[in-house]
Amino acid sequence: MEGNVVIVGASHAAAQAVDSLRREGFTGRLLLVGDEPDLPYQRPPLSKKYLSGEFDPDRLWIRPAAFYEQQRCELRLGRRAVALDRSARRLRLDDGESLDYDRLLLATGGRGRRAPVPRADLAGIHYLRSRADVDGIRADLAPGRKVVIVGAGYIGLECAASCTKLGLEVTVLEMAPRVMSRVVAPQMSAFYEAEHALHGVDIRLGTSVAGFEGGTRVTAVAGADRGRFPAGLRVLGIGIVPNVELAEAAGIACDNGIAVDEHCRTSDPLVYAVGDCCSHPSPHYRRRIRLESVDNAFEQAKTAAANLCGRDVRHDRIPWFWSDQFDHKLQIVGLAEGYDRVILRGDPASRSFSCCYLRGAELLAVDAVNQPRDFMAAKKVIAERAPVDLARLADAGLSIRDAVVPG
Ligand code: FAD
Repeated sequence: MEGNVVIVGASHAAAQAVDSLRREGFTGRLLLVGDEPDLPYQRPPLSKKYLSGEFDPDRLWIRPAAFYEQQRCELRLGRRAVALDRSARRLRLDDGESLDYDRLLLATGGRGRRAPVPRADLAGIHYLRSRADVDGIRADLAPGRKVVIVGAGYIGLECAASCTKLGLEVTVLEMAPRVMSRVVAPQMSAFYEAEHALHGVDIRLGTSVAGFEGGTRVTAVAGADRGRFPAGLRVLGIGIVPNVELAEAAGIACDNGIAVDEHCRTSDPLVYAVGDCCSHPSPHYRRRIRLESVDNAFEQAKTAAANLCGRDVRHDRIPWFWSDQFDHKLQIVGLAEGYDRVILRGDPASRSFSCCYLRGAELLAVDAVNQPRDFMAAKKVIAERAPVDLARLADAGLSIRDAVVPG
């Protein structure tokens, strides 16, 4: 394929799209527009080893600068796409430059959800989405400073674990009655609550935030129940909102993200969207889903690139994700929703176990703690929708594959 392809957003999905477009035989002009100043970099280390200072910043790049030269990809970094004129097939950037396109790929990702409470703009209040956010947090990490983290989801808890490694005193405020309640079973929440307590993290469950105190800089977080949590640094990890505004203003259909079909195409056949910014119809789940995961960003980028180059490829993946907290690797495959039973494989006290989510005899999802074999086997079994024998599944001496009822 020839012509101009412009990619908006320069992160995981975009870097993969550059690679895949060229591999698929795209020979035309390729432009990458990103509003951060950096080349596409990996976000997962940000709340993990980059925050704790154990990750060399040079290792963050998804691809080295030379890669973009080799792929003949023109870069517009530190530049924001501000308007999309679909009838003229033209994208306008914040410095006034206009870029014509034949096909447009939106990979605009998401941004940290802002706290809807008074004084959320005080100095010392940080979000955790970009490298600049984490550099800001690190610059603010004076020894002995108390850290309050709002939100006990994956990112809030990873951030708590990293700050603890740095010797900081950490409190986590979570309005739900248990950690990661949206995505994991009570057994898994209990394991992580105990691990954090063991490392000195003070987790306050059932605690919502009413506002912040301080002159110009945050001094305390006020809880809705009148509790007060002194803090010199406060990090918010309360989820993301997809960056849909560019598409929405141009009249492209959105539905919990930019709505794409199974080919990653939006309501405009010349515009595709991939990664955290979009929702897609999942053949496996038989409904529209929006995922926030590196695997999804990479795989959708491959799908979109193939279709942009004239192939007919459908995106159909079982979601997977991971989270590192202290020395524990949690690998999650499938969506733990609509289950009627949870089976544990192994003993949480051994710190190596899995939590299996089932509906009847169908395995829906697995959370594997330091159990990569369970994670790998579950990926296949979940995708196949093969019925499993519950007693064999509970036997950690057997592989999850051995629990499949021969059909
Ligand atoms: P993003 O990475 O969000 O990038 C979108 C880019 O587009 C951003 O740079 C944004 O500024 C830019 N942009 C937006 N609008 C415009 C515009 N109009 N013009 C120009 N540029 C624009 N996933 C996992 O699978 N495992 C993990 O362990 C994990 N850990 C994570 C830890 C942290 C701290 C964070 C923040 C995320 C983590 N994730 C993890 C999620 C994962 O990083 C995301 O799923 C992934 O980054 C999505 O990639 P993306 O390319 O779709 O979008």
